[in-house]
Amino acid sequence: MSGGETALRGRATLTARIARIHDHCADTRSLFLTLIDGRHLRFLPGQFISISIPLGDETRTRAYSIATSPEDRGPFEICFNMVAGGRGVGWLFERKVGDTLEFTGPFGAFSMERAPAVEIGLIAEGTAIAPIRPIIRRAIETGRAPIHLIYGADRDEHITYRAELDEWAKRALNFSHEIVIAPAIRLHERLGDVADERWIAADSDRSRQFWICGVGPGVIKLRDLLRGAGYERRAVHYEQW
Ligand SMILES: Cc1cc2nc3c(=O)[nH]c(=O)nc-3n(C[C@H](O)[C@H](O)[C@H](O)COP(=O)(O)OP(=O)(O)OC[C@H]3O[C@@H](n4cnc5c(N)ncnc54)[C@H](O)[C@@H]3O)c2cc1C
Repeated sequence: MSGGETALRGRATLTARIARIHDHCADTRSLFLTLIDGRHLRFLPGQFISISIPLGDETRTRAYSIATSPEDRGPFEICFNMVAGGRGVGWLFERKVGDTLEFTGPFGAFSMERAPAVEIGLIAEGTAIAPIRPIIRRAIETGRAPIHLIYGADRDEHITYRAELDEWAKRALNFSHEIVIAPAIRLHERLGDVADERWIAADSDRSRQFWICGVGPGVIKLRDLLRGAGYERRAVHYEQW
């Protein structure tokens, strides 16, 4: 560990201050966090922190993926959306610049240290692009094989970091992406159809590796679609929120 960095993986409680807030749209927000001890948080692309949320009648712990890359200097970012009846995330929306919050981590095996030598497929929906974003960057920086992202949401404004994704697609010859807009109730099915067409029906190559992130049981269906088509279990990484 280099000086000035903190690698306190595990249960040690860390305190971060909110340095900046960015609203992507009315119900999607990013907080930019700095450790109050002035050190830099060490993590792998794709990992999350567990934030302690004091609600009066209960203290709940909720996971939030780190949306920035480990090599970025300055604050690290979490990105989240309103959830119907979601009191935990409601508390996060009430935080102001200068407030502090406590967390443990980083945690998570849904990560990428170096790009595999094989083609990479990524599937994300809405704010579940948060862990995928630093994974794409790491993949672009450390690999040469094609990287393709299928990114879905129920409406256009819920496609976060779009300009950046477009920019990466222009600059990195091996990165491409496509956007899928569909009603929430049909989104996972549509993502599955697009994934099927591209990675199952199109050829018999089953050497690809996948990273899938999203909300609810649809994520498991996407995982099983790929595994059921002949991709190895360990080649299909997934994170269900
Ligand atoms: C490893 C991991 C990483 C996560 N990273 C993020 C992140 O980067 N950004 C983020 O917004 N959330 C993230 N989540 C979800 C987050 O931890 C909370 O579950 C969410 O904010 C709702 O918490 P709550 O206490 O407000 O509501 P709860 O009452 O606990 O949750 C209500 C319901 O909302 C569903 N839900 C969870 N997340 C979402 C969502 N984003 N959109 C719609 N429904 C959802 C849950 O499945 C649950 O059924 C992550 C979850 C996990 C397990």
